[in-house]
Formats: sequence, C-alpha cells, structure tokens
Amino acid sequence: MKAAVIESVGRAVVTEVPDPTPGPREVVVEVAACGLCGTDLHILQGEFAPKLPIVPGHEFAGEVAGVGSQVTEVAVGDRVAVDPSLYCYECRYCRTGHNNLCERWAAIGVTTAGGAAQYALAPVANCVKLPEHVRTEDAALVEPLSCAVRGYDVLQSRLGAHVLIYGSGTMGLMMLELAKRTGAASVDVIDVNPARLETARQLGVSASAASADELDRPQGWDVVVDATGNAAAIQDGLGRVAKAGTFLQFGVADYATRVTIDPYRIYNQEITITGSMAVLHSFERAAELFANGVLDPQVFISDRIPLARYPQALEQFAAGVGRKIVVVP
Ligand SMILES: [Zn+2]
Ligand SMILES: [Zn+2]
Repeated sequence: MKAAVIESVGRAVVTEVPDPTPGPREVVVEVAACGLCGTDLHILQGEFAPKLPIVPGHEFAGEVAGVGSQVTEVAVGDRVAVDPSLYCYECRYCRTGHNNLCERWAAIGVTTAGGAAQYALAPVANCVKLPEHVRTEDAALVEPLSCAVRGYDVLQSRLGAHVLIYGSGTMGLMMLELAKRTGAASVDVIDVNPARLETARQLGVSASAASADELDRPQGWDVVVDATGNAAAIQDGLGRVAKAGTFLQFGVADYATRVTIDPYRIYNQEITITGSMAVLHSFERAAELFANGVLDPQVFISDRIPLARYPQALEQFAAGVGRKIVVVP
C-alpha cells in the first residue's frame, strides 16, 4: 500500500510499505481521510515520536477492510472514526483514570503506524462506528474535536461564563463551537491573522479582535483558553483572567517556550492555571457531538489533498494556510 513516511528529521515522503495484518483484536481501516495537525510537525522536527521512520496520522476515519480473529464488534464495511490513544492500563496514571498521562503513552500515528496511508491498524476498542448521515471523510475531525471536549472536561465549565479564546485556527474554532454549547455568556476570540478571524466571525462570536486591548472587558474573562501555543499570546492571556477565573493551556507550545506568572495575583484572585493533553474518555462523546452537527465540516476542512502530495500538504500546514487540511488516499 501507499503511505506517507516521516523517514528522518525534516524528511517526509510517500512510498510503498507492506499492507497491515490485524492481530486478534485489531481492525484494518481503509482510510477515507486523515487530518494534519501540529503534532505531525513536531514529529517531523524530531519531537514526540521516539522512533523514526513512522507513518504519521492520528486523525482519521475510514471503512473497516479487515478484522482480526477475535473481533465481533465491527465488521467489514462498517465506517469508523479511530481514537489514536494507546494506553498501557497498568501504570499508576492509567490506574487512577489519567490514561492520557500514561507512563508508556503511545498513539497511532505518533508511536505506531498511523492513518496517512491507504490502510491503518487500530485496536477494535479504539473504533467508534459512524452513523449513516456522517460522511466518512469528514469524520477525520472527530479526533481533534475529542481533544477540545477533553479541554472542557478540565475546565468543568459553568453556565454564564465569559470566555476568551486565543487563536482561531482549527482548535480555537472548535473551542469556540463548544463554548457556545456550554452556555457561555459571551465568547470572544483573538487572532492576529485577519483571515482566520473572519472564520470565527462567520461561526458567531460576541467580539473578535487582533488584541484583547481592543475588547472592553477590564475585569477580565472567567475562562481564557490559549489555542496558539505562542508565548506572546499565552503571556497576554494569563493577564486577562478575571478573579476566580481559569486559564487553560490548550495549544501545544514548543518545549523551550517560557512565560512569566504573577504568583501574588494567582493567590490573591484565586486564579487557576491548568492544561489539557490530547484525549481522555472524550472520543465517544466527540463522535456523538459531531454526529449531532456541533461543527460544520465544510467550514472546518479547508483543503482535501491527495495522499501522494503529503509532503506539500505538510508544508502548506506549516505555513499556516487554511484550516484543517486532510489528505485523502
Ligand atoms: Zn492532532
Ligand atoms: Zn499507563
């Protein structure tokens, strides 16, 4: 089969690799579409993935093309979205319900062959069947959505909150769509890129601007979400949290990024600073929200690029052009 392969740091190719064979409790998925994400760029830069070469792609959906000897839950022809998380279920974090912080954390497309290929392997437990009306190629969005759902689990968000989101790329826009459904009193979005901000406006925001200085809310926001990973945005956002408010680090910063905090204010105003990492018991719910139309795939997927052009798709993503880019085998 054809697959994208990140061969070494900085080098991605599309090449021929052996077809996957399912283990007893595994499924072969014929990939319909696979999303690109910041994690793929980190892998290309030599972070995250312990071993190269790797077939990337952790955001994918497709049709079941083969099942292992002990699989009864899905059958050939079923359409599924795949939760890429691979947990050990044995370490302290797994045993205390923090599986996404597993000591042997692994994921399809990060530590094992992923979905940027014609076929991908997944444990049957990671496959969620798609209802009739969901288009398979759109369901590549379920994985990033499940990360956003996890973000709101961490926030334990309350009705009537004033929410400020930094970044209106795919993840910021997903946080926006979910914020509207958590009963936020207002949702404001910050982005320095006017084209991206325009999409946020199209989806419906209370206010949007290139800087929070332009928004009239001196008392700050109850919930501030960074969906950029950018130091300047994070630093600014930390200062915009209202008394008793929460700052959520949702965007993936580079390892070396540093910002300063104000311990007195954290104490005196009871401010919470927290983070959310990937997926935790949120994939199934994301699939259900997706099936219920929580977001419009036509807005969220800006580019559908043939798998053969994976390296170019990655370049376009790195340049920040478009919203979710998916490759189609
Ligand atoms: Zn991702
Ligand atoms: Zn574990």
